[in-house]
Amino acid sequence: MFRDHTKVVQIGNKVIGGGNPVLIQSMTNTKTNDVAATVAQIHRLETAGCEIIRCTVPDMDAAKAVAQIKKEISIPLVADIHFDYKMAIAAMENGADKIRINPGNIGGRDKVAEVVRAAKERNIPIRVGVNSGSLEKELVEKYHGVTAEGIVESALDKVRLIEDLGYDNLVISIKSSDVMMCVKAHELLAGQTKYPLHVGITESGTVTSGNIKSAVGLGIILNQGIGDTIRVSLTGDPVEEIKSAKLILRTLGLRKGGIEVVSCPTCGRTNIDLIGLANQVENMVQGYDLDIKVAVMGCAVNGPGEAKEADIGIAGGIGEGLLIKKGEIVRKVPEDALLATLKEELDAWGKS
Ligand code: SF4
Repeated sequence: MFRDHTKVVQIGNKVIGGGNPVLIQSMTNTKTNDVAATVAQIHRLETAGCEIIRCTVPDMDAAKAVAQIKKEISIPLVADIHFDYKMAIAAMENGADKIRINPGNIGGRDKVAEVVRAAKERNIPIRVGVNSGSLEKELVEKYHGVTAEGIVESALDKVRLIEDLGYDNLVISIKSSDVMMCVKAHELLAGQTKYPLHVGITESGTVTSGNIKSAVGLGIILNQGIGDTIRVSLTGDPVEEIKSAKLILRTLGLRKGGIEVVSCPTCGRTNIDLIGLANQVENMVQGYDLDIKVAVMGCAVNGPGEAKEADIGIAGGIGEGLLIKKGEIVRKVPEDALLATLKEELDAWGKS
């Protein structure tokens, strides 16, 4: 596992790298200087399971807001900076726990040196971020287009620049919206660096396409032992990013805990509103800290058998359903009481 051997990096009250659990990040989409809105969104994200939050810092108002936001949240805050090195310094002065910069667009080596000096004074990690969309012309020419090799070379060049300035408290991210290029780039990079990797598929799209691309890309990368922290980028409510990230990690066996809902695809045998019920169940279980599997099955032919493999399940009939616990049919429940019955069972789970 590459991730067992990456450098341990402390980000505020969290650590990544060195075999520590893969942490989940998201990014706010509020105006950072709107402190109330930003804090409210971060609280929703924290509740959903976000472990590190990134906010854009495009101007001095946003940099100052970082100090106020930090007072009201309990997860580390990463300041995302483009173009203006002064914003990176101001964000750190205002308490950012990490900064994300692309040293290639911050104004040259001297400016990078100033940012590194400020980071060094406070021992604040720097995420060196490279996107395929902003790959240097020379590397595009050298590799005859935007390629995984070019992205990796660009990232390692920038890391070397910061190392030459005497700093190695670093995290690297390389991103591409081309999923397989992104996979290849991570495979190339993982063997060439000791720094923890922040993994994500950038500009992956709306909730549906973004989820699929992220699940495929992150799945392949994480399953090779690559990646210390992840973000699922979606054009949508950032809370959806957290739900997806948790599910990806859980599916790969990298995260324990949380209720897994399995449900059948429905067919001609389904006689209850299973699609509505499954969605309601999936929403309802978000708040439970139970490490169990819940099955929501459509019929009494295959349903009970499949529900038996879960810790608790419901299998629909005609206007009613069966409640199944640990493989045993417990009782029949009217269709309109199935959700409430399941909730009662989950509330009491482990208490008897
Ligand atoms: S569990 Fe029953 S309703 Fe659901 S897909 Fe299977 S046969 Fe159809």
